[in-house]
Amino acid sequence: MPNREEHTVLGAFAGGSVSLISALMHDPDDLAGAMVELLGGVVFGSVFANAPDAIEPSTRGPNHRALAHSATAGAVVVASGAKLAPELVSSLRMRSAALRAHSRNWALWHRFLAGGVVGSHVGFVSHLLADARTDKGLPLLGKVQ
Ligand SMILES: [Zn+2]
Repeated sequence: MPNREEHTVLGAFAGGSVSLISALMHDPDDLAGAMVELLGGVVFGSVFANAPDAIEPSTRGPNHRALAHSATAGAVVVASGAKLAPELVSSLRMRSAALRAHSRNWALWHRFLAGGVVGSHVGFVSHLLADARTDKGLPLLGKVQ
């Protein structure tokens, strides 16, 4: 079973990578904005990569994987990432652009959160993919007996 450190590193790397790609696809000329989104992706990716074990800790025993560790949870997060996240990220980027002239800090904060929205989804899924590669695998919906 991957441990907390492995999930954190994997979530940070995956969340940061996808956030960076997303930011550069949005505006390839805004490298500074992309770096801020990368940072948001790393931070949120590493935090959300530990979310399934925070909800269902392994201290509950070898069969601790339930709904938060299920293929269904993964599908919901992927669907949310595909359907809701792009609108939210786009709105955060537009808000950031509107704030740039008034407050550089608030503008950067909105870009950080845009990366965080992407990173949180990717980080959560990275945990499920890592756990799915173990002998226990992932349940479809609930506990594996
Ligand atoms: Zn886990």
